[in-house]
Amino acid sequence: MLFDLQIDTIESWIRGRGFASVALQLPEGLKLRATELSDIIFKDTGAKVVILGYPCYGACDLFTDYRRYAEALVHFGHSPIPNLPQDDNVLYIEARANVEIEKSLKACIDRLPQRLGLLASVQYVHLLPKAKEILEASGRTVSIGKGDGRIFYPGQVLGCNCSSAVAVQDDVDGFLFLGEGDFHPLAAAFGLKKEVSILNPVTGEFRNVDDKRDRILRKRFAAICAAEKAQAYLVIVCGKIGQCRADAADAIEEKLRAAGKTVYRLVTDEITPAALIHYRVDAYVNTACPRIAMDDSVRYDRPMLTIPEAEIVLGLRTWDEYVFDSI
Ligand code: SF4
Repeated sequence: MLFDLQIDTIESWIRGRGFASVALQLPEGLKLRATELSDIIFKDTGAKVVILGYPCYGACDLFTDYRRYAEALVHFGHSPIPNLPQDDNVLYIEARANVEIEKSLKACIDRLPQRLGLLASVQYVHLLPKAKEILEASGRTVSIGKGDGRIFYPGQVLGCNCSSAVAVQDDVDGFLFLGEGDFHPLAAAFGLKKEVSILNPVTGEFRNVDDKRDRILRKRFAAICAAEKAQAYLVIVCGKIGQCRADAADAIEEKLRAAGKTVYRLVTDEITPAALIHYRVDAYVNTACPRIAMDDSVRYDRPMLTIPEAEIVLGLRTWDEYVFDSI
């Protein structure tokens, strides 16, 4: 099995704590395993199992209301977010990848800079010490940065937070991200002016994300230009525990009003084109997950901006001062 779902750990936790019922929260990619997990856990522990069918994109989506359905919650696929309130009855199963790094790393080693920062998504973060050892043996200087209060492991990046990369950016010439897909490394590419390469430890694929980052930033420029004539704004606040930025929403609303704009606030957990279409506004400022605006903006019929992008529209910062909207 590629991803370790730690069934023994889950069952010992349920037995040890004496839970009679447990809810399972899985990201989309692991939902296929939900019924199998439910069968095994019920058979081995006797605990009643409830599968939560809500979308789950990160630990920011933690289903805090689980007590309506079960005594405890097992949240799969993400690590805790340290600066959020913690709950003893929640167990995080990170689904670490069972893969070795040596062969794929040695195959791309000549394409890596001399001073290198290492990054990973949580599924691959355990590979970082070994990767560092291999790279240092090749004569490279390797840094693994410690992130801010939203980041659990050194070197870990979220799609909305690359603080572990920011911490070492002055010590490195570029970054290598261990993991799959563009979502996490793009956060570092948006947030830093350094080359970011990806090594997929499963397939051995090696590439960089510069082209994709530049394509997305061009679209952001277009969204900012399109919002310049907007008069009425919908400021979106998400109710999910790890995406709720009411204070930031207050601040940008004040700036919009000071610029003579009409402002409405929408609180919702569902940010989709269909959920927003009813509101008579010219543009959106999304204070929830910044990647909804950055990666998915073409799906919306009106410009959707991050907070720093709205500041550019208002003339409060220049395009050269563009920054990634990190949570
Ligand atoms: S806010 Fe967005 S990028 Fe950040 S953890 Fe949640 S889903 Fe991922």
